[in-house]
Amino acid sequence: MDDLKFGTRNKRGDWAPGARLEVAPYWDRPFNLLKVVRWIPEYLFPWNAFHMATALLWWFFVVPDVEAMKTLGWGWALWLYSVNATAIFVFYGTFEVIYYVRRKQATRFKYNARFPADHPSDVFWFKSQNLDNFLRSFFVTIPLWTAVEVFMLWVFANGWATWLSWADHPVYLAALVLVSPMIHEVHFFFIHRLIHWGPLYRWIHSVHHNSINPSPWSSLSMHPVEGLLYHAVALWHLVIPSNPIVAIFQLHIAGFGAVNGHLGFEKLEVTDESALDSHAYAHYLHHKYFEVNYGGDGLIPLDRWFGTWHDGTREGDAMMDARFQKKKERVNARASRTAAP
Ligand SMILES: [Zn+2]
Ligand SMILES: [Zn+2]
Repeated sequence: MDDLKFGTRNKRGDWAPGARLEVAPYWDRPFNLLKVVRWIPEYLFPWNAFHMATALLWWFFVVPDVEAMKTLGWGWALWLYSVNATAIFVFYGTFEVIYYVRRKQATRFKYNARFPADHPSDVFWFKSQNLDNFLRSFFVTIPLWTAVEVFMLWVFANGWATWLSWADHPVYLAALVLVSPMIHEVHFFFIHRLIHWGPLYRWIHSVHHNSINPSPWSSLSMHPVEGLLYHAVALWHLVIPSNPIVAIFQLHIAGFGAVNGHLGFEKLEVTDESALDSHAYAHYLHHKYFEVNYGGDGLIPLDRWFGTWHDGTREGDAMMDARFQKKKERVNARASRTAAP
């Protein structure tokens, strides 16, 4: 596909989309019903439908019997870990092999023309972004994801959370499935905003931000505190009346869905004519500029409400620069106050 029909490429070879990032269309004023209806398939397919499919697979074929889950045990915890790790290895690995190893799409639709593997850096374990990100994902974050999962299933199995059945509450549970990606965004926005606070950033979140040019393995490359907070989104389903399948769906939006923000490509070409939208740009801009787009795709446009939304345009740049300028002035004013006799 000709990516220049959809955007522009600068002198360094970095590609940027021509269209501005938009928040979910139900926030548009005046309200445009047609636009919302047209957006629904894109909301469901393929990503959220995929997370639901894996949640069902897990519930029916991976998760042990309720009776067995009433007791915490290493046996079923390690089983869940091995399935989660294998699934992520295959799922993320597919993107890694196609787009970063074989480079089937070269740099078409690629935001940053460089490939991390070509640029060793001291900030990473063994100077390798790939190896560092891979090890952190499989030996830190996925074990923590599994720990959240085990805890959540153990609480459900023991009847300590409100477990609604599909037969009795089909409408409520279906609605909960539809808002789960929004719960994810709100949860992620606030924990993410928190770990961008200076001391916490240096202690925790800088690990994830070492990857300025993220690739699939960067998705779950996190400090343990972040890995736990991030997947703890599923624990909201112990607080609100829910069902374990919806809770696993919520967990998979976090675990599997993390790759979306870190693909590095705007579109994944399927045929010469068609391509899949990655939904990666908002989070790519976050990795590039740090203090913008803390949330996700704008299902709940918290970034817009808090003034940190960057829509990828020049106006977005200008708004960000104005904010940085103000921040600098505040810091300087504080410094001169403390320096005064
Ligand atoms: Zn990220
Ligand atoms: Zn961040």
